Amino acid sequence: MPVAYDDAKRFDLAIPVVIIGGGACGLVSALAAKNAGAEVLVLERDRIPSGSTALSSGFIPAAYTRFQRAAGVVDSPGQLAADVMRKNNGEADPRMVDTICSASGRAIEWLADRGIPFVLVEGFLYPGHSALRMHAVPEKTGRALMAALTEACSRAGIDILCEAQVTTLHADSKHRLRGVSFSRRGQTVEEVGCGALVLACSGLAATPRW
Ligand SMILES: Cc1cc2nc3c(=O)[nH]c(=O)nc-3n(C[C@H](O)[C@H](O)[C@H](O)COP(=O)(O)OP(=O)(O)OC[C@H]3O[C@@H](n4cnc5c(N)ncnc54)[C@H](O)[C@@H]3O)c2cc1C
Repeated sequence: MPVAYDDAKRFDLAIPVVIIGGGACGLVSALAAKNAGAEVLVLERDRIPSGSTALSSGFIPAAYTRFQRAAGVVDSPGQLAADVMRKNNGEADPRMVDTICSASGRAIEWLADRGIPFVLVEGFLYPGHSALRMHAVPEKTGRALMAALTEACSRAGIDILCEAQVTTLHADSKHRLRGVSFSRRGQTVEEVGCGALVLACSGLAATPRW
């Protein structure tokens, strides 16, 4: 995505938090930002929010959740982090892994409190994991997870603009992102300014620079 630098750039409309991408990452970010009191706009390229998340099984590994405790499962963020590092042969950044694993249980419970009907997936140990820690919605599909997240956003009053593909990021000469241009259905181009921009449009996996 190209970045256009222009200190004089002005936007007719500005939203405090703009999120590019309406998959799980984008919608959870939107719920968190809205919960913190910010106005949020999600820009999603596709006709409905789906992304890779809807293709997935929707199993979310998380440690030390109330769902695990209710099932008598003993687990901890450190045990999850050790499993993750073993699975990736020590290649991941351990600080990033620790941060994510430490937040994983709280994130699942926080989302459950906002109406995402998580259950602990029981009956089999997910490959490479030493405890029952996969959380999913009862249908156990990514599509159903996306439907639940979309509904939660709707209840929270979050605007998700679909068929809106971001084509350009706008920044000032200090590299501060100020807004985006997006194309509606591949035709009209519109712009929106932002106070903060969340890149939740996927595509970073296996990128060596990250
Ligand atoms: C078959 C399969 C099974 C999987 N199973 C699991 C699993 O069980 N557990 C697990 O943890 N992970 C699983 N994964 C991986 C997981 O699905 C992804 O890591 C996760 O969905 C990524 O979420 P995301 O929100 O970052 O991206 P996505 O869900 O892909 O969302 C990104 C969104 O950004 C939008 N977008 C992209 N570019 C733009 C643009 N320029 N402007 C506007 N919008 C844009 C896309 O349309 C998309 O909706 C699986 C993946 C696959 C393919």
